[in-house]
Amino acid sequence: MKDYYATLGVDRNASQDEIKKAFRQLALKYHPDRNQGNKEAEEKFKEINEAYTCLSDPDKRNHYDRFGTAEGFPNQGGFGAGGSTTFSTIFEDIFEDFFGGFSGRGAKPTRGADLRYNLTITLEESAFGAEKIITVSKWNNCDVCHGTGAEPGTNPISCGQCKGTGNIRFQQGFFSVSKTCPKCQGTGIIIPSPCKNCKGTTKVRINKELSIKIPAGVDSNSRLRVSGEGDIGNNGGSPGDLYVIISVQEHPIFKRVGMDIYCHIPISFPKAVFGGEIEVPTLNGPYKHKIPAGTSSGAEFRLKGKGIPKLGSFHRGDQILQVSIEVPKKLSDRQKEILREFAKLSGEEIDVPKGFTGKLKDLFTA
Ligand SMILES: [Zn+2]
Ligand SMILES: [Zn+2]
Repeated sequence: MKDYYATLGVDRNASQDEIKKAFRQLALKYHPDRNQGNKEAEEKFKEINEAYTCLSDPDKRNHYDRFGTAEGFPNQGGFGAGGSTTFSTIFEDIFEDFFGGFSGRGAKPTRGADLRYNLTITLEESAFGAEKIITVSKWNNCDVCHGTGAEPGTNPISCGQCKGTGNIRFQQGFFSVSKTCPKCQGTGIIIPSPCKNCKGTTKVRINKELSIKIPAGVDSNSRLRVSGEGDIGNNGGSPGDLYVIISVQEHPIFKRVGMDIYCHIPISFPKAVFGGEIEVPTLNGPYKHKIPAGTSSGAEFRLKGKGIPKLGSFHRGDQILQVSIEVPKKLSDRQKEILREFAKLSGEEIDVPKGFTGKLKDLFTA
């Protein structure tokens, strides 16, 4: 595996600025113009460019950090090892990265980064939907210079070196190469007094409050995409998206399984015997449910349509009542007397037979 961080001589936690700086220094050192006919320098130049192509793109860098390779990344640029890219396109790419890549103002519009926000909601909110206010930290256009990078009251001027075109053509061996103007980094304009608020970068970090509509039926790990609320794009590129990742809190009474919710209901022995109405909690509040006479412990009753709504539909899952018979712990003498009577009539011996303890002793001492 290639260690791109080692190639650029930066730390694994290096910021984008540090990576750009390291790349710029190495690119200047190994640039083919300064190392005519030096194969080693040319190889080195390709290596640092491959490393920079990967690490300068947050998505590619993420992929590389996770998998240890830039390969397999969708839309991978032409710098993969053994790629079929011709030397001239490599060359143009190099110049584009070399002169445009570190300015943040190069001619190429790039999309802003996607952001992730973890949001915890209650089971009720997941069932019926909700509106939540969240605060997202992201890059936005500087509102002092309105994204121009120029101090208010000053104006950008046309670049003298490229006459405002952003490009310079020159001959490199057999190739006529168009390279990005190094003076204006391809923008065609020069900013004499950079904006103090964003230091001429056109971007600032902001905290933005957003109101998020949670649709009924979401579950843990549901991903809500909020279009355009990611980081602002570069050079007029579109902003990234915000992904809100839902996690649903555990509920003290209800347990969600798919679209159904389970709920444990204790009932008394007489209620189990005679049946009758019991009041049970549902997501919509208390509900009276009739259980039949002779209900046994462990019986389940299904309340149709009292579960979780299916995402984007009017259909709802069910609530399942799991009944258990409660054994009373404190009984009055009268209650005990009646129960003994009941047992006797059922032909059941309740009191421990005399001599049983003695027999037990015999068993263990034998
Ligand atoms: Zn600014
Ligand atoms: Zn220029």
